[in-house]
Amino acid sequence: MSKPIIISGIQPTGNLHIGNYLGAVKNWVELQNSTTQELFIFIADLHALTGTQTAEERRQQILVTAAELIAAGIDPKKTTFFIQSHVPEHSELAWIFNTITPVAELERMTQFKDKSEHQDKNINSGLLTYPVLQAADILLYKATKVPIGQDQVQHLELTRDIARWFNNRYGSPNGGTGEYFKEVKPLLTNTPRVMSLLEPTKKMSKSLGAGHVIELADEPDIILNKIKKAVTANAGGAGAPGVTNLLNLLKQFGSKKNYGEFTEAEKDGTIRYGELKEKLATAVSNYFSDFRKKRAELMENPQALRELLRSGAEQARKRASKTLAEIYSLVGLR
Ligand code: AMP
Repeated sequence: MSKPIIISGIQPTGNLHIGNYLGAVKNWVELQNSTTQELFIFIADLHALTGTQTAEERRQQILVTAAELIAAGIDPKKTTFFIQSHVPEHSELAWIFNTITPVAELERMTQFKDKSEHQDKNINSGLLTYPVLQAADILLYKATKVPIGQDQVQHLELTRDIARWFNNRYGSPNGGTGEYFKEVKPLLTNTPRVMSLLEPTKKMSKSLGAGHVIELADEPDIILNKIKKAVTANAGGAGAPGVTNLLNLLKQFGSKKNYGEFTEAEKDGTIRYGELKEKLATAVSNYFSDFRKKRAELMENPQALRELLRSGAEQARKRASKTLAEIYSLVGLR
């Protein structure tokens, strides 16, 4: 009996930032040490095609994202780590799922509406069918758990629907149970939502602009500069979102002692934002110092990185091709 599979992916659309790290990657690194479950992590390059990168930007970013995930702790010896498009079964299964998914279900996805607003010059049909490809990403490996944030709950619900529609229509060709796909469950992790440094009521996101995010690869002087410019509060504004965000980050990256002192000082109104910012900048810089070294080493040898990814895809394909062969047979293509 093989171990239950947990799967997650990330788009190679920008360098990793501390929001990605605390919201996803850190959790993956913890999950990969489980002895009872197997972790699959992929770089969602097919999903990234729905965006606006040029081919050259995309090619480079895929490699950088791979290096960054490994530098942040993803260990290809423990985790099946690969690039989505290297496993063509993702696209093949997505096509089959497209044919059982009602358009209306896709049109009501809030992320489709948000993204369409965001890139109103490029509302391609890939944006609409994005969650169908996501369902394929998950069900191709018959994963049973998917670590997600609140923003992905609706998409995972659709994956569950697609599994059910497939089971109902094709799941029992010989009068079986109709349960080809087992239930997929969200692994809702209680990760902090990291807010933008400059607009702390919005989620930290690269799309807001460089000053809004701290990238894991940022050098210490850049980190300090960005944090210095972070919005805090007007006089007497205890509990302001900018301050809460900086304190939350100190909690994650700094010492307990520092966090305790600044939280107290915030409550009694004696907090000095300049000091908080310096302490936080030092804490973040130190936390990612090994990351920066490892990332640079990996980027010096892209050939070795490509080889790791090739081997990861080969591993993933063993399962993917088996599932797809079964599905082709179930739907009557073989
Ligand atoms: P994205 O590329 O924006 O889809 O982000 C990839 C992953 O990082 C997703 O699983 C998000 O939940 C997580 N993430 C992105 N931005 C943040 C943030 N500001 N705070 C917490 N998690 C985030």
